[in-house]
Amino acid sequence: MSAKILDGKWVRDQILSELRPRIERLKQAHRPPGLAVVLVGHDPASEIYVRSKIKTCGELGIYSEKVTPADTISTEELLGIIEGLNERDEIDGILVQMPLPPQVDKQRVLVSVHPDKDVDGFHPVNVGNLVANHPGPRACTPAGIMEMLRRYEIPVAGKNAVVVGRSDIVGKPMALLLLHQNATVTICHSKTADLPGICRRADILVAAMGRPAFITADFIQPGATVIDVGMNRKPDGKLVGDVDPEAVQQLAGAYTPVPGGVGPLTIAMLMSNTVHAAEHHLC
Ligand code: NDP
Repeated sequence: MSAKILDGKWVRDQILSELRPRIERLKQAHRPPGLAVVLVGHDPASEIYVRSKIKTCGELGIYSEKVTPADTISTEELLGIIEGLNERDEIDGILVQMPLPPQVDKQRVLVSVHPDKDVDGFHPVNVGNLVANHPGPRACTPAGIMEMLRRYEIPVAGKNAVVVGRSDIVGKPMALLLLHQNATVTICHSKTADLPGICRRADILVAAMGRPAFITADFIQPGATVIDVGMNRKPDGKLVGDVDPEAVQQLAGAYTPVPGGVGPLTIAMLMSNTVHAAEHHLC
């Protein structure tokens, strides 16, 4: 039996259509939600991501604003821009697109976004909220994956979940969200011994490594749910995930393809966090 494909566009469309009436209510009662995206310099991949975030805002009726300082900007100047956005009432969410140029102190920038406007969920206050399982914005990609598991009715409680990758934006928040849903969670990284053996124990395997097609048949328990977060661009421009597509099709019970799996969920959850922030500010 071939594995079930978990369709990120289907989940995204559901999330976005549930946001539309909430945005309409905000517009009628007050004003549309507002998102400011700060894009420093001209990183080509960042420009593509920002374009699709702004486009999705437009389609949903969320007010958006793009701020594009030059890549020679200093930390102090960028902090000044964020301070200005923090103070503006019509801006509910502020997103600083990564990566930042090397002269900019990324940690100071992330901390400068007001926690109530931190739609990426990266501010230490919101990381603390996540750890303590208190309400607050969650990092978009892992939150989108939880939505996908929920909407496909994939059980999480009591399951062995293995997350490969421990970054602040994917691996760690993913592990915590799975833990809060009562999975038994293992976090793996580049120093993990016997990675294939640990991955083979996973009922839910999340690959967030940035290593093209690294997860092969050796890593997959037959019937497992395999979530591929990886987005690796090959020299010919083709996008490949962290999971070997043939192995996963043959062995998994269900899996997210690349493209079309996890990718569409990240922007949907950014929109969701922005609408939630606006409701919090206005209602
Ligand atoms: P990082 O580079 O920040 O983290 C990668 C993690 O993978 C690290 O913890 C690293 O371990 C671990 N790792 C790398 N190689 C190995 C290995 N051989 N064995 C075990 N662990 C390994 O990446 P991100 O978390 O930011 O992103 C991961 C992937 O997800 C990327 O491909 C990125 O493009 C993609 N991504 C996709 C998104 C989407 O919307 N679909 C959103 C965000 C990211 P260590 O800590 O020891 O170095």
